[in-house]
Amino acid sequence: MKLLEGKKALITGASRGIGKSIAMKFAEAGADIAFIDLKRDENMEAVEKEIAGYGVHGRGYESDASNMEQVQQTVDQIVKDFGGIDVLVNNAGITKDTLLMRMTEDQWDAVINVNLKSVFNFTKAIQRSMLKQKSGSIINMSSVVGVSGNAGQSNYSASKAGIIGFTKSVARELGSRNIRVNAIAPGFIITEMTGQLSEDVKKQWAEQIPLKRGGKPEDVANTALFLASDLSSYITGQVIQVCGGMNT
Ligand code: NAD
Repeated sequence: MKLLEGKKALITGASRGIGKSIAMKFAEAGADIAFIDLKRDENMEAVEKEIAGYGVHGRGYESDASNMEQVQQTVDQIVKDFGGIDVLVNNAGITKDTLLMRMTEDQWDAVINVNLKSVFNFTKAIQRSMLKQKSGSIINMSSVVGVSGNAGQSNYSASKAGIIGFTKSVARELGSRNIRVNAIAPGFIITEMTGQLSEDVKKQWAEQIPLKRGGKPEDVANTALFLASDLSSYITGQVIQVCGGMNT
């Protein structure tokens, strides 16, 4: 029997990068996949096709994770289409890096709204359905810089630290209802988000990593699979750092 056979997962920001890798890993493990991203584009359609290749149901929905009204409507539609959701992965995120001295209010607000408010939006919207089922696993994508901080990323680090506080609080609220809430804090993972960095910066990052390489999206997806499945049924309120030993 596959690890997620018969389960239904909802993943945000899954048209590319880490979210897409999680969608594929979960589909391979037997789950039906609903996912959202900002636009129905060729990336979203390609992910739908790849999911179908695993013999499970996959459907992408257009939604802005930072907009509560849109999220509530999308989640209601997904719960109707899929008949409930067992696993929520709050993965959508952006960066707008600059030193505090140069950071505008818009750069602050955008990162907090997309990275942190989105986690509130989706968790709140799915909560009732998971409470009715009396089970669920919620996985929130934080970052090592939410633990350690990083110069030039005060908005991003604050959003990712906020996710950790939210994760631990909601884990305490929902534990008695058999709903687990955990966070993953990836280190330096090679995706389009980090692809914009110069070769020099990438080299500097790699030097700080005991395992001497950037992570692959699949390294994060494997951890998400563990947290989504019953293999982690006694784990809640935790932050697992997937960072090659960078943050110890
Ligand atoms: P990515 O930029 O490749 O993918 C992010 C996805 O989220 C994109 O498909 C994008 O369209 C979507 N998205 C952005 N804003 C959205 C919104 N408002 N509503 C819906 N979807 C939206 O990034 P990634 O590297 O795959 O990162 C995924 C998550 O992992 C993010 O939360 C990121 O902060 C976190 N993370 C990444 C790294 C890394 O090194 N790549 C490290 C730590 C944490």
